[in-house]
Amino acid sequence: MAFLDKINDFAKTATEKTNNAIETTKLSAKIDSEQRTLNDIIRKIGEYYVAKIDAGEILDEEVMSIYEGVAASRNKIAEMRAEIESLKTPKAPAEKENETSKFCPFCGKELDVTAKFCLNCGKQQP
Ligand SMILES: [Zn+2]
Repeated sequence: MAFLDKINDFAKTATEKTNNAIETTKLSAKIDSEQRTLNDIIRKIGEYYVAKIDAGEILDEEVMSIYEGVAASRNKIAEMRAEIESLKTPKAPAEKENETSKFCPFCGKELDVTAKFCLNCGKQQP
């Protein structure tokens, strides 16, 4: 009798372990999904404040210092975009002979005459 009880206990424990594993997997998936929701909300908060600073607002020192990373990252993206453009478009001979630089109409940065995007503000050049 005691032996059968032990087998029953063993079976029960095994079933319990399987059920717990299934439940754990389900909860982990729910946590991942909720984490994505949370990340999305945090990203939206970030975008809200970045837009404010873009518009000229000065926020507290810590935020402004983090924002420097935004500007640096945007510049890198603009440079790489410009690089892609320069890879796509071979320089026209007439452009080589004449003006070698122009100025961004948005921020005034001096740019190569062939630049399609500003290296400073990232805006597309006319
Ligand atoms: Zn510019």
